[in-house]
Amino acid sequence: MHFDLFVIGGGSGGVRCARIAAAHGAKVGIAEHRHWGGTCVNIGCVPKKFMVFAAEYGANAIDAKTYGWDISTGPHHWPTLIEAKNQEVARLSGIYSRLLDQNGATTFNAHAHFLDPHTIEVGGQRITAEKIVIATGGHPETPDIPGADLAIVSDDAFFLKEMPRRIVIIGGGYIGVEFAGIFSGLGAETHLIYRQPLPLRGFDEDLRLSLAESLTANGIKLHPDTVPKSIKDENGEKHLALSDLTILETDLVFFATGRAPNVKNLNLAAAGLEKTARNGAIPINDQLQTAIPHIYAIGDVTDRLNLTPVATAEGHALADSLFGPNPRTISLKNVPTAVFSIPPIATVGLTEAEAAKNGGAKIFLTKFTPMRHAITGRPRKTLMKLIVDAATDTILGAHMHGEDAPEILQGLAIAIQSGATKADFDRTIGIHPTAAEEFVTLRTQTRLVGMEEAAE
Ligand code: NDP
Repeated sequence: MHFDLFVIGGGSGGVRCARIAAAHGAKVGIAEHRHWGGTCVNIGCVPKKFMVFAAEYGANAIDAKTYGWDISTGPHHWPTLIEAKNQEVARLSGIYSRLLDQNGATTFNAHAHFLDPHTIEVGGQRITAEKIVIATGGHPETPDIPGADLAIVSDDAFFLKEMPRRIVIIGGGYIGVEFAGIFSGLGAETHLIYRQPLPLRGFDEDLRLSLAESLTANGIKLHPDTVPKSIKDENGEKHLALSDLTILETDLVFFATGRAPNVKNLNLAAAGLEKTARNGAIPINDQLQTAIPHIYAIGDVTDRLNLTPVATAEGHALADSLFGPNPRTISLKNVPTAVFSIPPIATVGLTEAEAAKNGGAKIFLTKFTPMRHAITGRPRKTLMKLIVDAATDTILGAHMHGEDAPEILQGLAIAIQSGATKADFDRTIGIHPTAAEEFVTLRTQTRLVGMEEAAE
């Protein structure tokens, strides 16, 4: 069998690349050995968001009483959630593989590895391809401490037989913060351990601070500046020793300590490919090309910006460039992102610290009680922040922590990507009464930063 394009990995990026290339008329093969749709659809973004919805209903049901609803709330029934989530995920995963068939791509439900730069073995068959795309994604990484195998990772969290009564989550990144919200919202006693003073290293400091406050307000016990030392099983109970010498007794320890590229068993050396020493990522250039010109890599296996929409954008651009009429590259500047904490965070562009280093920036910040909670009394705040270039008035960054933040920031990302200025925001009429309108009514500058750097 010979293909114009062979894609290894049927996740968001690989499927998009294969589907679009096939639609352009290329003869395409694609291999996936685990689940069509990959991490995002099966054990990532999609099921995670269903679990966030589930967690939010608990608080919403309590809050509904303050609006006059006669609702009685009881404990959460975990198996109902997992079954409903599994059904929807199976439906979506099926759509992914059907889309490939409908576009004429040949699918292989098998693991693929290189035999030489143009030859791949997949499910016992040898196939050759003119061009090859590696889109194998990543997997959770765990720290090397005694008893690490007693802990779970995100892959497992979606299929637990029962909800833990107590859980300790290690890692203050996206996954740690999101699952802390899920488990605490569903009623578990939840601890979050992270080795920085605040969670979400790399995000704007005001967001990080606001997040830590809201995690605490949600009842999550925070352990900043702390790392795990060992885990022991004592009659089914897990004892987690921490660097501050405390021992936490819990039902479940969950590592959310980062992800690494899936490069094992690909036999990259047979294709003449090298991976980075740090975590095995495959280096690529702006054209998504590896060191071997006819082999490309997209998505998490490249460890650039590990976000589903980036992988799909890369897959689409690559298919268009190789087989469509208009070759193009994608920009990783101003990529918006969200953390589905409760309430969520969304962000686009520069943080205050980055902007300060890049020259002077005007900061506009507001923090308020969202309208819904004026009646519920729930101690929940919304924070919104704009970073504006002091010299050009261009909006450099927008950040929000509060209900609907990801829905609101998507639109702002378009404005910022298009070069909008603060004056453009100011002349835009708000939608009333919303939280979003604050982004166009922020008039009082909170502070000016980075002027010393700009003057140098
Ligand atoms: P992250 O890289 O976001 O966070 C990892 C966390 O684990 C950090 O707090 C890190 O600390 C900590 N950590 C790493 N190693 C150790 C260690 N040995 N001991 C103690 N702590 C450690 O990874 P996640 O696993 O949360 O998520 C992986 C990636 O998946 C994300 O970066 C994101 O790209 C993607 N993702 C995106 C989502 C979304 O778009 N909503 C949702 C989930 C995942 P430190 O900061 O000090 O390094």
